[in-house]
Amino acid sequence: MRIDLHTHSNRSDGTDPVDVLIRHARQAGLDVIALTDHDTADGWPEARLAAEELGIGFVPGLEISCKLNGISVHLLSYLPDPSYPPLAKDLQIIRAGRNDRIPTIVARLNSIGVPLTVDEVLAQATGTPSVGRPHVADALVANGTVANRTEAFDRYLADGRAGHVAHYALEPGRAIDLVREAGGVPVIAHPWGRSSYKVMTEETIGRLVDDHGLAGIEVDHQDHSPESREALRAIARNLGIIYTGSSDHHGAGKIDHDLGVNSTEPEQLERLLEVAKTNAAASVGHVPEAYLP
Ligand code: AMP
Ligand code: FE
Ligand code: FE
Ligand code: ZN
Repeated sequence: MRIDLHTHSNRSDGTDPVDVLIRHARQAGLDVIALTDHDTADGWPEARLAAEELGIGFVPGLEISCKLNGISVHLLSYLPDPSYPPLAKDLQIIRAGRNDRIPTIVARLNSIGVPLTVDEVLAQATGTPSVGRPHVADALVANGTVANRTEAFDRYLADGRAGHVAHYALEPGRAIDLVREAGGVPVIAHPWGRSSYKVMTEETIGRLVDDHGLAGIEVDHQDHSPESREALRAIARNLGIIYTGSSDHHGAGKIDHDLGVNSTEPEQLERLLEVAKTNAAASVGHVPEAYLP
């Protein structure tokens, strides 16, 4: 049983259309895949159809943009009702903030001599309601400024570089509350990844569990060293929460993130589905179901 609980389609900053992503998951030998686009559930209906057609398990999810003390933190959210009004409203505000910052990013890059227009960025983000820095990167590749997304981030877009402009994001405790109210299961993505390691201490993770009902943390992720994975697994066990593993696949957009490169143990998915059942029962919303053939 191979389970990958964190992937992106071109509904956010992955490069593959939803149906292609699901087909690739089948070809990679996966039995269950979660679609977790940034701040949007747009791809769910199409993903479910493709999964049913191919006989592969599908768990609907989101990766919600959060910020703690100014540091970006991502919250994976499995099986919430995305139309639960307070959650839908905040997701809408986050997506608007993503769009609104594009002219600022372009102006900043122009000011250091990098040629780029807003239209060039938007041309890379057709069909997505969730524009991100990777689309800016794709525009810089398309106009010949850089060779690939990685070079774009390294030179211009990584945190602290000229083209990094923060966007509106939720406080993690608030996002966890919303996801649970919407009947979903909140799991911190790559807690010791690129930026969040600065704020996601064992103490903070414990506080999010105690005060907000955080259900789990992502442990097996390419941003985590073998030592970090073991330490995080020990933290999850100490706190009695779920630990997951996943690729964080972005299609051709991210190297070393192939589908299934990390996976989630079946017992951990079972626990996750149990929490989903409990949270769904307490929720007033129309909570989606996983498709598990
Ligand atoms: P944003 O959501 O607009 O702040 O952009 C953050 C997204 O950019 C992350 O979710 C990743 O998908 C992607 N990203 C961040 N750093 C890199 C990198 N060094 N190379 C490629 N993609 C990256
Ligand atoms: Fe991404
Ligand atoms: Fe992330
Ligand atoms: Zn992700």
